[in-house]
Amino acid sequence: MKVTRQTKPTGTGPKEWFTGSVYIDPIAEPTDGHGLSASSVHFTPGARTAWHTHPKGQTIFVVEGVGLAQRRGGSIEVIRPGDRVFFEPGEEHWHGAAPDRFMVHIAMLEVDEQGNAASWLEHVDEQEYARAALER
Ligand code: MN
Repeated sequence: MKVTRQTKPTGTGPKEWFTGSVYIDPIAEPTDGHGLSASSVHFTPGARTAWHTHPKGQTIFVVEGVGLAQRRGGSIEVIRPGDRVFFEPGEEHWHGAAPDRFMVHIAMLEVDEQGNAASWLEHVDEQEYARAALER
């Protein structure tokens, strides 16, 4: 048994991978023995990930606020507390807050054999995101 106290300051999402302010707290960190990675992610209004993929897929579970998620070529989905989304391995997608709402999700995935959690692509286009906001 290992208890990890909350002693580290909350991390922030790197600008290369996120638009807007995103705060990340670890829940489970992969080790040599297991590949589970989980984190609690707070997106401020308008903040979102860049486009990206996960080698073994990802599940997100919304705990607060209103969010948006999209896979490449798909429609933008509004996601709310209690909703969960599974992204297939290699599926290009993004997720984040609605323009006028915070969104908090728990993100869960398994890292690959090299320890990679994600491959990052371009940022979500402003106009594309704004259009999603209107459609919502
Ligand atoms: Mn993802």
